[in-house]
Amino acid sequence: SAEIISGTQMRAAILEELAREVNMMREKHGKVPGLVTILVGENPASVSYVSLKVKTAVSLGFHEVQDNQPESITEEALLDLIDQYNQDPDIHGILVQLPLPRHISEERVIHAIDPEKDVDGFHPVNLGRMVLGDRRCCFLPCTPAGIQEMIVRSGTPTSGAEVVVVGRSNIVGKPIAIMMGQKGEGADSTVTMVHTRTRDLAAHCRRADILIVAAGVPGLVKPDWIKPGATVIDVGVNRVGTAASGKAILSGDVDFEAASKVAGKITPVPGGVGPMTIAMLMKNTVKAAWMQLENRPDCTHICR
Ligand code: NAD
Repeated sequence: SAEIISGTQMRAAILEELAREVNMMREKHGKVPGLVTILVGENPASVSYVSLKVKTAVSLGFHEVQDNQPESITEEALLDLIDQYNQDPDIHGILVQLPLPRHISEERVIHAIDPEKDVDGFHPVNLGRMVLGDRRCCFLPCTPAGIQEMIVRSGTPTSGAEVVVVGRSNIVGKPIAIMMGQKGEGADSTVTMVHTRTRDLAAHCRRADILIVAAGVPGLVKPDWIKPGATVIDVGVNRVGTAASGKAILSGDVDFEAASKVAGKITPVPGGVGPMTIAMLMKNTVKAAWMQLENRPDCTHICR
Protein backbone atom coordinates (compact mmCIF):
# COMPACT_ATOMS: atom_id res chain seq x y z
CA SER A 1 0.00 0.00 0.00
CA ALA A 2 1.05 3.58 -0.67
CA GLU A 3 3.54 5.56 1.35
CA ILE A 4 1.70 8.40 3.11
CA ILE A 5 3.18 11.85 2.54
CA SER A 6 2.56 13.60 5.84
CA GLY A 7 2.08 17.34 5.50
CA THR A 8 2.02 17.59 9.27
CA GLN A 9 5.53 16.12 9.55
CA MET A 10 6.88 18.20 6.67
CA ARG A 11 5.41 21.33 8.20
CA ALA A 12 7.25 20.61 11.45
CA ALA A 13 10.56 20.32 9.57
CA ILE A 14 9.93 23.56 7.65
CA LEU A 15 8.92 25.46 10.77
CA GLU A 16 12.16 24.34 12.45
CA GLU A 17 14.12 25.71 9.50
CA LEU A 18 12.18 28.97 9.69
CA ALA A 19 12.69 29.30 13.45
CA ARG A 20 16.43 29.29 12.76
CA GLU A 21 15.93 32.03 10.17
CA VAL A 22 14.01 34.13 12.70
CA ASN A 23 16.90 33.78 15.18
CA MET A 24 19.41 34.81 12.52
CA MET A 25 17.27 37.83 11.68
CA ARG A 26 16.96 38.85 15.32
CA GLU A 27 20.75 38.65 15.75
CA LYS A 28 21.52 40.51 12.55
CA HIS A 29 18.81 43.19 12.55
CA GLY A 30 17.22 43.16 16.00
CA LYS A 31 13.91 42.51 14.23
CA VAL A 32 11.53 39.61 13.63
CA PRO A 33 9.15 39.02 10.72
CA GLY A 34 5.90 40.98 11.09
CA LEU A 35 2.64 39.55 9.80
CA VAL A 36 -0.82 41.10 9.92
CA THR A 37 -3.84 38.87 9.40
CA ILE A 38 -6.96 40.79 8.42
CA LEU A 39 -10.22 38.93 8.95
CA VAL A 40 -13.50 40.50 7.86
CA GLY A 41 -16.62 39.05 9.47
CA GLU A 42 -16.98 35.72 11.23
CA ASN A 43 -17.19 32.99 8.58
CA PRO A 44 -16.41 29.88 10.69
CA ALA A 45 -13.99 28.34 8.16
CA SER A 46 -12.13 31.66 7.83
CA VAL A 47 -12.00 32.11 11.61
CA SER A 48 -10.43 28.67 11.99
CA TYR A 49 -7.91 29.21 9.13
CA VAL A 50 -6.86 32.59 10.54
CA SER A 51 -6.48 31.28 14.07
CA LEU A 52 -4.17 28.50 12.81
CA LYS A 53 -2.08 31.05 10.91
CA VAL A 54 -1.85 33.32 13.96
CA LYS A 55 -0.93 30.41 16.23
CA THR A 56 1.82 29.29 13.86
CA ALA A 57 3.21 32.83 13.45
CA VAL A 58 3.28 33.33 17.22
CA SER A 59 5.01 29.95 17.72
CA LEU A 60 7.78 31.14 15.37
CA GLY A 61 8.25 34.35 17.37
CA PHE A 62 6.84 36.64 14.65
CA HIS A 63 5.43 40.05 15.44
CA GLU A 64 1.81 39.07 14.78
CA VAL A 65 -1.02 41.57 14.49
CA GLN A 66 -4.52 40.16 14.41
CA ASP A 67 -6.84 42.71 12.87
CA ASN A 68 -10.47 41.56 12.95
CA GLN A 69 -12.97 43.81 11.23
CA PRO A 70 -16.77 43.66 11.24
CA GLU A 71 -18.65 42.25 8.25
CA SER A 72 -20.02 45.78 7.74
CA ILE A 73 -16.65 47.45 7.03
CA THR A 74 -16.76 49.46 3.81
CA GLU A 75 -14.44 48.69 0.94
CA GLU A 76 -12.90 52.15 1.30
CA ALA A 77 -12.15 51.63 4.98
CA LEU A 78 -10.56 48.23 4.23
CA LEU A 79 -8.40 49.73 1.48
CA ASP A 80 -7.30 52.50 3.89
CA LEU A 81 -6.41 49.88 6.48
CA ILE A 82 -4.31 47.97 3.96
CA ASP A 83 -2.53 51.16 3.02
CA GLN A 84 -1.74 51.78 6.67
CA TYR A 85 -0.04 48.37 6.86
CA ASN A 86 1.70 48.97 3.53
CA GLN A 87 3.42 51.97 5.24
CA ASP A 88 4.17 50.17 8.54
CA PRO A 89 7.88 49.21 8.71
CA ASP A 90 7.24 46.56 11.39
CA ILE A 91 4.79 44.69 9.12
CA HIS A 92 6.48 42.69 6.35
CA GLY A 93 3.53 40.54 5.27
CA ILE A 94 -0.16 41.35 4.84
CA LEU A 95 -2.71 38.57 4.69
CA VAL A 96 -6.35 39.35 3.95
CA GLN A 97 -8.38 36.20 4.55
CA LEU A 98 -10.66 35.37 1.60
CA PRO A 99 -13.53 35.19 0.80
CA LEU A 100 -14.62 38.76 1.56
CA PRO A 101 -18.23 39.93 1.97
CA ARG A 102 -19.97 40.55 -1.32
CA HIS A 103 -19.96 44.34 -1.07
CA ILE A 104 -16.14 44.33 -1.20
CA SER A 105 -14.19 43.67 -4.40
CA GLU A 106 -11.55 40.99 -3.76
CA GLU A 107 -9.73 42.14 -6.85
CA ARG A 108 -9.42 45.73 -5.57
CA VAL A 109 -8.27 44.49 -2.18
CA ILE A 110 -5.61 42.20 -3.64
CA HIS A 111 -4.38 44.98 -5.90
CA ALA A 112 -4.11 47.35 -2.91
CA ILE A 113 -1.53 45.20 -1.11
CA ASP A 114 2.07 46.26 -1.72
CA PRO A 115 3.48 43.40 -3.87
CA GLU A 116 6.54 43.33 -1.56
CA LYS A 117 4.19 42.46 1.34
CA ASP A 118 1.87 40.15 -0.61
CA VAL A 119 2.72 36.94 1.26
CA ASP A 120 -0.34 35.15 -0.17
CA GLY A 121 1.17 35.60 -3.64
CA PHE A 122 -2.13 36.66 -5.24
CA HIS A 123 -1.07 40.10 -6.51
CA PRO A 124 -0.77 40.20 -10.32
CA VAL A 125 2.83 41.41 -10.00
CA ASN A 126 3.79 38.27 -8.08
CA LEU A 127 1.74 35.98 -10.30
CA GLY A 128 3.36 37.62 -13.34
CA ARG A 129 6.86 37.10 -11.96
CA MET A 130 5.97 33.49 -11.17
CA VAL A 131 4.81 32.90 -14.75
CA LEU A 132 8.04 34.45 -16.02
CA GLY A 133 9.99 32.02 -13.84
CA ASP A 134 11.36 34.81 -11.65
CA ARG A 135 10.76 32.95 -8.41
CA ARG A 136 13.50 34.69 -6.45
CA CYS A 137 11.65 38.00 -6.69
CA CYS A 138 8.16 36.73 -6.15
CA PHE A 139 5.95 35.22 -3.50
CA LEU A 140 4.61 31.90 -4.75
CA PRO A 141 0.95 31.33 -3.84
CA CYS A 142 1.00 29.25 -0.65
CA THR A 143 -1.03 26.17 -1.61
CA PRO A 144 0.80 25.53 -4.92
CA ALA A 145 4.14 26.22 -3.19
CA GLY A 146 3.20 23.68 -0.52
CA ILE A 147 2.22 21.10 -3.13
CA GLN A 148 5.53 21.48 -4.95
CA GLU A 149 7.46 21.33 -1.68
CA MET A 150 5.68 18.05 -0.78
CA ILE A 151 6.51 16.56 -4.14
CA VAL A 152 10.19 17.48 -3.74
CA ARG A 153 10.50 16.42 -0.09
CA SER A 154 8.77 13.08 -0.79
CA GLY A 155 11.53 12.28 -3.30
CA THR A 156 9.17 12.08 -6.29
CA PRO A 157 11.10 12.72 -9.51
CA THR A 158 9.55 15.54 -11.55
CA SER A 159 11.84 16.03 -14.54
CA GLY A 160 10.02 14.69 -17.59
CA ALA A 161 7.22 13.30 -15.42
CA GLU A 162 3.61 13.40 -16.61
CA VAL A 163 1.77 15.71 -14.24
CA VAL A 164 -2.01 15.96 -14.43
CA VAL A 165 -3.69 18.79 -12.51
CA VAL A 166 -7.44 18.51 -11.93
CA GLY A 167 -8.84 22.04 -11.53
CA ARG A 168 -7.96 25.43 -12.98
CA SER A 169 -8.66 27.93 -10.20
CA ASN A 170 -6.43 30.99 -9.83
CA ILE A 171 -5.35 29.96 -6.35
CA VAL A 172 -4.49 26.27 -6.92
CA GLY A 173 -4.93 24.54 -10.29
CA LYS A 174 -3.64 27.21 -12.66
CA PRO A 175 -0.55 28.25 -10.67
CA ILE A 176 0.57 24.70 -9.78
CA ALA A 177 0.22 23.68 -13.44
CA ILE A 178 2.46 26.58 -14.47
CA MET A 179 4.97 25.93 -11.70
CA MET A 180 5.37 22.22 -12.52
CA GLY A 181 6.06 23.06 -16.15
CA GLN A 182 8.78 25.62 -15.38
CA LYS A 183 12.48 24.92 -15.70
CA GLY A 184 14.24 23.86 -12.52
CA GLU A 185 14.23 21.69 -9.43
CA GLY A 186 10.88 20.19 -8.50
CA ALA A 187 9.54 21.07 -11.96
CA ASP A 188 10.50 20.34 -15.61
CA SER A 189 7.34 18.21 -15.88
CA THR A 190 5.00 17.64 -18.80
CA VAL A 191 1.76 19.16 -17.57
CA THR A 192 -1.88 18.58 -18.48
CA MET A 193 -4.56 20.70 -16.81
CA VAL A 194 -8.06 19.22 -16.79
CA HIS A 195 -11.34 20.79 -15.66
CA THR A 196 -15.13 20.59 -15.90
CA ARG A 197 -15.07 20.82 -19.71
CA THR A 198 -12.48 18.06 -20.18
CA ARG A 199 -13.83 15.20 -22.31
CA ASP A 200 -12.33 12.14 -20.65
CA LEU A 201 -11.08 13.00 -17.18
CA ALA A 202 -10.29 9.39 -16.24
CA ALA A 203 -8.11 8.78 -19.32
CA HIS A 204 -5.96 11.84 -18.53
CA CYS A 205 -5.63 10.92 -14.86
CA ARG A 206 -4.49 7.39 -15.76
CA ARG A 207 -1.45 8.82 -17.57
CA ALA A 208 -0.27 10.76 -14.55
CA ASP A 209 2.98 9.97 -12.76
CA ILE A 210 1.97 12.81 -10.44
CA LEU A 211 -1.75 13.46 -10.01
CA ILE A 212 -2.70 16.75 -8.32
CA VAL A 213 -6.41 17.03 -7.55
CA ALA A 214 -7.96 20.40 -6.63
CA ALA A 215 -11.60 20.17 -7.69
CA GLY A 216 -13.53 20.40 -4.42
CA VAL A 217 -15.59 17.29 -5.25
CA PRO A 218 -15.41 14.54 -2.61
CA GLY A 219 -14.43 11.14 -4.01
CA LEU A 220 -14.08 12.50 -7.57
CA VAL A 221 -10.96 10.46 -8.32
CA LYS A 222 -11.60 6.71 -8.35
CA PRO A 223 -8.88 4.14 -7.70
CA ASP A 224 -8.95 2.90 -11.31
CA TRP A 225 -8.07 6.45 -12.47
CA ILE A 226 -4.69 6.14 -10.79
CA LYS A 227 -1.61 4.76 -12.49
CA PRO A 228 -0.04 2.09 -10.25
CA GLY A 229 2.84 3.65 -8.32
CA ALA A 230 1.81 7.25 -9.04
CA THR A 231 2.19 10.08 -6.52
CA VAL A 232 -1.24 11.48 -5.64
CA ILE A 233 -1.60 14.95 -4.09
CA ASP A 234 -5.15 15.52 -2.83
CA VAL A 235 -5.80 19.24 -2.34
CA GLY A 236 -9.54 18.98 -1.78
CA VAL A 237 -10.99 19.89 1.59
CA ASN A 238 -14.66 18.93 1.68
CA ARG A 239 -16.91 19.02 4.73
CA VAL A 240 -18.77 15.74 4.42
CA GLY A 241 -20.47 15.65 7.81
CA THR A 242 -20.31 16.62 11.45
CA ALA A 243 -18.81 14.44 14.18
CA ALA A 244 -20.53 13.89 17.53
CA SER A 245 -18.09 16.46 18.98
CA GLY A 246 -19.52 19.07 16.58
CA LYS A 247 -16.30 19.17 14.54
CA ALA A 248 -16.57 18.99 10.75
CA ILE A 249 -15.63 15.69 9.13
CA LEU A 250 -13.26 16.43 6.24
CA SER A 251 -12.59 14.43 3.13
CA GLY A 252 -10.47 15.01 0.05
CA ASP A 253 -11.24 14.72 -3.67
CA VAL A 254 -9.72 11.23 -3.83
CA ASP A 255 -11.16 8.02 -2.41
CA PHE A 256 -8.21 7.68 0.00
CA GLU A 257 -8.66 4.10 1.22
CA ALA A 258 -9.03 2.61 -2.24
CA ALA A 259 -6.46 4.91 -3.86
CA SER A 260 -3.84 3.92 -1.26
CA LYS A 261 -3.88 0.38 -2.67
CA VAL A 262 -2.84 1.64 -6.14
CA ALA A 263 -0.77 4.79 -5.62
CA GLY A 264 2.94 4.78 -4.77
CA LYS A 265 2.66 7.83 -2.52
CA ILE A 266 -0.41 9.72 -1.39
CA THR A 267 -1.33 12.71 0.79
CA PRO A 268 -4.07 12.34 3.42
CA VAL A 269 -6.91 14.80 4.15
CA PRO A 270 -6.61 16.25 6.74
CA GLY A 271 -2.88 16.32 7.44
CA GLY A 272 -1.69 16.69 3.85
CA VAL A 273 -1.64 19.87 1.79
CA GLY A 274 -3.40 22.00 4.46
CA PRO A 275 -0.49 22.17 6.93
CA MET A 276 1.93 22.84 4.05
CA THR A 277 -0.09 25.86 2.94
CA ILE A 278 0.41 27.44 6.36
CA ALA A 279 4.11 26.56 6.38
CA MET A 280 4.53 28.30 3.01
CA LEU A 281 2.75 31.41 4.30
CA MET A 282 5.29 31.54 7.11
CA LYS A 283 8.13 31.02 4.64
CA ASN A 284 6.86 33.86 2.45
CA THR A 285 6.69 36.12 5.50
CA VAL A 286 10.28 35.32 6.49
CA LYS A 287 11.32 35.95 2.91
CA ALA A 288 9.44 39.27 2.83
CA ALA A 289 11.13 40.33 6.07
CA TRP A 290 14.64 39.55 4.74
CA MET A 291 13.93 41.43 1.53
CA GLN A 292 12.60 44.50 3.34
CA LEU A 293 15.19 44.56 6.12
CA GLU A 294 18.07 44.19 3.69
CA ASN A 295 16.48 46.38 1.04
CA ARG A 296 16.92 43.75 -1.64
CA PRO A 297 14.79 43.11 -4.69
CA ASP A 298 15.18 39.37 -4.24
CA CYS A 299 16.03 36.84 -1.62
CA THR A 300 18.56 34.23 -2.52
CA HIS A 301 19.26 32.23 0.59
CA ILE A 302 15.69 31.21 1.41
CA CYS A 303 14.62 30.48 -2.17
CA ARG A 304 15.39 27.30 -3.93
P1 NAD B 1 -12.53 26.14 -7.22
O1 NAD B 1 -13.93 25.72 -6.98
O2 NAD B 1 -12.20 27.57 -7.41
O3 NAD B 1 -11.98 25.35 -8.49
C1 NAD B 1 -12.25 24.02 -8.71
C2 NAD B 1 -11.75 23.62 -10.07
O4 NAD B 1 -11.98 22.24 -10.26
C3 NAD B 1 -12.44 24.35 -11.21
O5 NAD B 1 -11.44 24.92 -12.03
C4 NAD B 1 -13.23 23.28 -11.96
O6 NAD B 1 -13.09 23.40 -13.36
C5 NAD B 1 -12.61 21.99 -11.49
N1 NAD B 1 -13.64 20.97 -11.29
C6 NAD B 1 -14.69 21.00 -10.43
N2 NAD B 1 -15.43 19.89 -10.54
C7 NAD B 1 -14.86 19.14 -11.48
C8 NAD B 1 -15.18 17.88 -12.07
N3 NAD B 1 -16.24 17.18 -11.66
N4 NAD B 1 -14.37 17.43 -13.03
C9 NAD B 1 -13.30 18.14 -13.44
N5 NAD B 1 -12.94 19.32 -12.92
C10 NAD B 1 -13.72 19.81 -11.96
O7 NAD B 1 -11.71 25.52 -6.01
P2 NAD B 1 -10.22 25.81 -5.45
O8 NAD B 1 -10.23 27.08 -4.70
O9 NAD B 1 -9.22 25.58 -6.51
O10 NAD B 1 -10.12 24.62 -4.40
C11 NAD B 1 -10.23 23.27 -4.79
C12 NAD B 1 -10.28 22.39 -3.56
O11 NAD B 1 -9.08 22.55 -2.83
C13 NAD B 1 -11.40 22.74 -2.58
O12 NAD B 1 -11.86 21.56 -1.97
C14 NAD B 1 -10.72 23.61 -1.56
O13 NAD B 1 -11.35 23.56 -0.30
C15 NAD B 1 -9.36 22.98 -1.52
N6 NAD B 1 -8.28 23.88 -1.10
C16 NAD B 1 -7.44 23.43 -0.14
C17 NAD B 1 -6.39 24.22 0.26
C18 NAD B 1 -5.45 23.71 1.30
O14 NAD B 1 -4.62 24.44 1.77
N7 NAD B 1 -5.51 22.46 1.66
C19 NAD B 1 -6.19 25.48 -0.28
C20 NAD B 1 -7.06 25.91 -1.29
C21 NAD B 1 -8.10 25.09 -1.69
